[in-house]
Amino acid sequence: MRITIIVLLGWLSYSLNHEGIKSNFAELRPNNSMDTIPQSVQKLISSYKNFVVAFSNNHIIFKDGSKFLWDDGIKNKSPKLLLENPDLKDLFAQKYVTGALKSPPAANFDPGRVRNGPFFLKMYGATEKEVRKNLTEITWCPKLVGQKITVTRINGIDKKLAQISNELDEHPELKKYLTNIGGTFTWRNINGTNRHSMHSFGMTIDINIACSDYWQWVCKCTNENAAIQYKNRIPQTIVDIFEKHGFIWGGKWYHFDTMHFEYRPELID
Ligand SMILES: [Zn+2]
Repeated sequence: MRITIIVLLGWLSYSLNHEGIKSNFAELRPNNSMDTIPQSVQKLISSYKNFVVAFSNNHIIFKDGSKFLWDDGIKNKSPKLLLENPDLKDLFAQKYVTGALKSPPAANFDPGRVRNGPFFLKMYGATEKEVRKNLTEITWCPKLVGQKITVTRINGIDKKLAQISNELDEHPELKKYLTNIGGTFTWRNINGTNRHSMHSFGMTIDINIACSDYWQWVCKCTNENAAIQYKNRIPQTIVDIFEKHGFIWGGKWYHFDTMHFEYRPELID
């Protein structure tokens, strides 16, 4: 009898720890505890504590009660569909790895380039007016550069960028990459699309364009399916400092954008 119970308990604990069963189990329980919530959802909750508070019935729940669909059930989305109509689970489909790139990204490997528009509009502001209410000005690299830049206070991004700026300010050898900041806040769509640029939210920064490379400049096209030759001139020290504070780098994408850093702590381990 005792052996049967031990075996049964062992099986039950294995089942509950198994990722597939774990997520189904979470969906059956409205008030699940953290250990029944998929790991990527836990990452969203811990990354955006002021907004995302729970997970229930395949939806993430915001503090104000609004719900966002986690998994739309559509399998094998094409790269185009992933960019145009991702659910929240799709944000995690490609793993962003911190540290130096070991080789140029494989075709269509763009971790972090898939973004769920409604989720970010909800946090940072759904209109230009709403976004502007949360903007503030900081001085970028006071010793080396001293440029005023406009960024959001949401998710403490102004403070994080001030910390990044202070750390970069100790590297005079990096000055040419850090001067003439290419842009932070501009309410606009991504070139050639109907999707909001992440620059619309003030949580993204382009460093010096003159020292940067962008896939569309290399292929002289906007065709996502073009064969693209990888190119980068941004030193790893800059990337490391941004990543340490929760920012991903566009230089890790097949569709590279090496000036571009974006606050996406949910993707950083
Ligand atoms: Zn950018």
